[in-house]
Amino acid sequence: MSAHHEVVIIGSGPAGLTAAIYTARADLAPLIIEGEPSSTSDQPGGQLMLTTEVENFPGFPQGVMGPQLMADMREQAARFGADFLTARVSRVDFSQRPFSVWVGDSEGEPTYLAESVIVSTGARSIMLGLEAETRLMGHGLSTCATCDGFFFRDHEIAVVGGGDSALEEANFLSRFASKVTVVHRRDELRASKIMQTRAQENPKIEFAWNSTVEEILGDTKVEGLTLKDTVTGETRNLPVTGVFIAIGHRPNTDLFVGHLELDDSGYLITGADNSTTGVAGVFACGDVQDHTYRQAVTAAGSGCMAALDAERWLESLQD
Ligand code: NAP
Repeated sequence: MSAHHEVVIIGSGPAGLTAAIYTARADLAPLIIEGEPSSTSDQPGGQLMLTTEVENFPGFPQGVMGPQLMADMREQAARFGADFLTARVSRVDFSQRPFSVWVGDSEGEPTYLAESVIVSTGARSIMLGLEAETRLMGHGLSTCATCDGFFFRDHEIAVVGGGDSALEEANFLSRFASKVTVVHRRDELRASKIMQTRAQENPKIEFAWNSTVEEILGDTKVEGLTLKDTVTGETRNLPVTGVFIAIGHRPNTDLFVGHLELDDSGYLITGADNSTTGVAGVFACGDVQDHTYRQAVTAAGSGCMAALDAERWLESLQD
């Protein structure tokens, strides 16, 4: 028989865990289906599990390691009665209430029935697919300039990509780094004209055109890139101590296609100033619905909003 819950939270990054803390403290005994360990960001704890030091989460004057922050948030939610399941959701059905959630076998009866669901499955940075990315992530390799730029004061670093994100990151990183090389696979940028002009006029930014990354060098920390010229086929080494991958993000929304409204880039659409989706009783928070800010603290803030929205909605059912 399907287990019944007032609140099921799908995903356990800062958004999901903050929603868990709030709904647990409201005595709603939430179930958090936290994902399964994997090499990608849709694992328990989300993208912060792939970072090392976090210096910009308020309340930690000396910084905190990403995995430690997530372990502490999880413990905080558990203390108030949140229940965790280390598994992946395989299917949802939001067409009627209680909502249905399957884990594992997606045929037959749903594993869980929920009066409300909070979706916080996050997003992942698109990566190049090199083996070194797993080894060096958080050790000179990053996907977030806002988070990690500060660590590269006076370093020579590279940004991979040719879109608005890459140029925005390059401009931001030039505040710290002595030189930023934008590595782009073509000889023409995808970024908007204004971003291109800003980057081209920045004396600290250089471009490696028609270049693909063959390898990220370094055993325990980034020491350089091997670039391949797509026109001549020649390879060369670029000595850098930091590499920022900025080739796009992908929200983890495959599960919700056909069940919730998505925008053109696949992000869940929520209300302008709340966490509501098009389905009453289903709420979304964190990076799965935010392609602008993408910070741990903004994800946590939106997790709080989703919890309060869910709480009020459940209360309204009793009126
Ligand atoms: P994007 O526009 O999709 O650009 C991705 C870039 O990465 C492209 O230059 C692409 O190269 C390159 N790329 C993709 N896969 C690659 C691979 N495997 N190896 C090497 N390079 C690869 O993504 P984005 O820059 O993250 O921007 C996403 C959206 O957010 C866009 O609509 C953008 O305008 C918007 N945005 C706006 C701002 C702003 O206005 N301030 C800031 C950030 C993002 P090709 O060009 O060769 O395809």
